[in-house]
Amino acid sequence: MTPETPQWVSCPTCQTRFVMDETETPPFCCERCQLVDLGRWLDEEHGLPHEGDPGDVPVEYRNEE
Ligand SMILES: [Zn+2]
Repeated sequence: MTPETPQWVSCPTCQTRFVMDETETPPFCCERCQLVDLGRWLDEEHGLPHEGDPGDVPVEYRNEE
């Protein structure tokens, strides 16, 4: 017998405890928290140095060869 056990989880963004089944944006408690986490992730991604990114090469560097 498996009773209906709600799966309580903690939102990674705001640490609010909620039932997984009650959110439309798991594992976050709400869309706002999902967007916050996504924004944080994109910030980190954006902060990484992109070597070889053609859009990032200074003009003088290109003229060096
Ligand atoms: Zn949250």
